Parts: sequence; C-alpha cells; structure tokens
Amino acid sequence: MERNSLAQNIIDTCLEMNATGLNQGTSGNVSVRYQDGMLITPSGIPYVKLTPEMIVYVDENGVSEPGKVASSEWLFHLACYRARGELNAVIHTHAVNSTAVAIMNHAIPAIHYMVAVTGTDHIPCIPYDTFGTKELAESVFSGIKESKSILMQHHGMLAMEINLEKALWLASETETLAELYLKVGGLHAPPPVLPADEMKKVIGKFKNYGLKTEK
Ligand code: 13P
Ligand code: ZN
Repeated sequence: MERNSLAQNIIDTCLEMNATGLNQGTSGNVSVRYQDGMLITPSGIPYVKLTPEMIVYVDENGVSEPGKVASSEWLFHLACYRARGELNAVIHTHAVNSTAVAIMNHAIPAIHYMVAVTGTDHIPCIPYDTFGTKELAESVFSGIKESKSILMQHHGMLAMEINLEKALWLASETETLAELYLKVGGLHAPPPVLPADEMKKVIGKFKNYGLKTEK
C-alpha cells in the first residue's frame, strides 16, 4: 500500500480507538511496518488534528524524517517489528481495564478460550520501565515474542497483528479479556482456567479463525 493510504489508515485507527473507549486523549500510539522501518504517529498531537503528512517515517536505525517528532515510544514499536517479522502493525493504548490489571502486575490466564487470540495461553504483563526508554523497548521485545498482545505494568497494553484492522481487533479483545478478569475477581483469587490441552487445541484452531481482513 502506498504511504498516504497507510498514513490515513493509522489516523483512522487512532480515531476509532479513542471513539470506542480503547484509549483516551493523546495517550497511546500506532504504527505500521513501512519499507525498512515504520510509519508512526507523532508525539503528543491530538488524533483529531492529525493529517497524513504529520505521520512520521522512522527507518530501521531509528532515524526519523527531519522536521517531525515521532511518538516517544518509537523504540518499542521498532523492537516489535524486529521481534515479529510476520506481523506488520502495532497499537499501544492506555485502555482502562488492561491498565488496571497491569497496575497489579497480573498476567491474564486462560479464563476464556479467546485468550488464544494472542497465539498463546495467557496475556503476559511486562515489567515497568520509564516510557520511551531502551529498557522498556527490551521488555516489549521479549513480551511480544511470547504473545501478540501484552500488558505493560503501570502503563497500558500493546497489540501486534498482520495489519491495523486486526491489531485494533486484538487490542479490543484484550481489553474485553481484562474486563472479564476484573469481573471474576482475578486480582483477589485465581479464577478457574481452561486446561492446557484445551488451550493448545484452540490455539491451533485460531490459525484459521478470527477477524478476516485483507493483508
Ligand atoms: P506519544 O504521544 O509520545 O506517542 O506518547 C503516548 C504514550 O502512550 C507514551 O507511552
Ligand atoms: Zn503509553
């Protein structure tokens, strides 16, 4: 897809994640793989003010195009593209339920078969580090290798998929699972979980199941 269409897709995704309550204000950031690097939202600009020209190209070495300030989290977005060569879009949000679980440093276990949407049987929570740092990017790198969506302690969540539409879907499913985890009192007592062999079966089925989109 050409650059302008990808940039417009990024903006549409940002607007949707805020409209659906998956994120608020200028929190969060969105990127897509592009050439040897990525296209990413600029830092701190309200999504309603974004135009395609404001989306920033960052190359594989982390160099941004001149005159634009990439999201403060460009390091962890780039780390995601290095970690998962088969996936092409990253969404980071401060979704309320996911962030609540992440504040308590809980991973979400197999409380529902939809956990398999991550490609594994739980949603891990990566350790806290200051936003925008190399240390946080290193933890995101390890976490996203393990699972296509992760919680970020005292911060939020991140979802990575083959394209933006699917990444937004995954972020939304992750937020629903976090809400369920809170509803069943997961912070206070370990909830019942599906057996490992059942989750293995569902993870296999998810290879041909889920939101259908064009790549
Ligand atoms: P940016 O506006 O710099 O992308 O920061 C938002 C955020 O969520 C930082 O973690
Ligand atoms: Zn953030």
